Amino acid sequence: MQETRSTCPYCGVGCGVIIESVGDDITGVRGDPEHPANFGRLCTKGSTLHLTATPTLAAQSRLLTPQSRAQRDAEPAPIHWDSAMALAASRFGDVIERHGRDAVGFYLSGQLLTEDYYVFNKLVKGLIGTNNIDTNSRLCMSSAVAGYKATLGADAPPTCYDDFQHAGCIFIAGSNAAWAHPVAFRRIEEARAANPRMKIIVVDPRRTETAALADLHLPLQPGTDVMLFHGLLHIMLWEGWVDAAYIDRHTRGFGELRALVREATPERVAAICGLSRDGLQRAARWFGLGGGDERDVGARSATLSLYCQGLNQSSSGTAKNAALINLHLATGQIGRAGAGPFSLTGQPNAMGGARSVACPIC
Ligand code: SF4
Repeated sequence: MQETRSTCPYCGVGCGVIIESVGDDITGVRGDPEHPANFGRLCTKGSTLHLTATPTLAAQSRLLTPQSRAQRDAEPAPIHWDSAMALAASRFGDVIERHGRDAVGFYLSGQLLTEDYYVFNKLVKGLIGTNNIDTNSRLCMSSAVAGYKATLGADAPPTCYDDFQHAGCIFIAGSNAAWAHPVAFRRIEEARAANPRMKIIVVDPRRTETAALADLHLPLQPGTDVMLFHGLLHIMLWEGWVDAAYIDRHTRGFGELRALVREATPERVAAICGLSRDGLQRAARWFGLGGGDERDVGARSATLSLYCQGLNQSSSGTAKNAALINLHLATGQIGRAGAGPFSLTGQPNAMGGARSVACPIC
């Protein structure tokens, strides 16, 4: 039996897997105990990954040779790999010759490995000479990219899974991680079991399985996230829960932000978001002080925020991302273990390919 290390292609957690095979047949899959995303764990989807490659299913769903149609409405017929490569190259060559380099484009996926993205980019930008290459990760992540750039100046999430075990407060917005990022969520549950003082806040109009774990669930009116985040900053300023020394040392333009949130009073935010003032007050305190109370202002614990498509897939997605990251900057909840904004991705390599290699807005 042969074993091959790879990555589960399904969700943004990116669990490491060990694929077992005999000859051309995949016979099993198990979690990679050395992989830092999952340390050997897999969810139901990952642990049944090999079943999608059984000979019966593969015969129904996989092409074993390239296929070509003589004309568009003809039946596809198998052709040799060499002929397929030559045909594809000549079709691209014809289009480029007749209409120019920008007449062709490539659309990739966040499921590819970084090395694959690199080779495609070499082909498209280096050899063909066009910028027409993009991935479906833009649909997921362009708001996250723009939010990071607007606030931190670079698209580089300053967090990792190990931060779960160092956080005193985890603030989850626009994400049902219990379903969408199951192995990461198990790590959050474990971190909470190891630290019963940890506070979990979930911002979601729906009462999800993720919300079931929360100490505080804020079921806000859909689309009112920016107002909520501004309202939390308003309370933090009023109560003295911001980190003035951090703001002085590491930020610019805080005066404008302070002016912007002046009108986001608890009364107004509660009315617009459909939330209680008590809930807003508790959320602001736990976020600012890392789950602690007023006595902890001088030695605040860490706050980690997790967010996903509930913030990103929106006509105001960039503003939602930026308003949440601004809370981290205002409270110094960034740049240390357990603290910072952690944008969850929808696909395992949305960051590596779409953002680090290909994305023209990065
Ligand atoms: S959590 Fe995601 S990456 Fe991990 S095994 Fe499940 S589907 Fe695959």
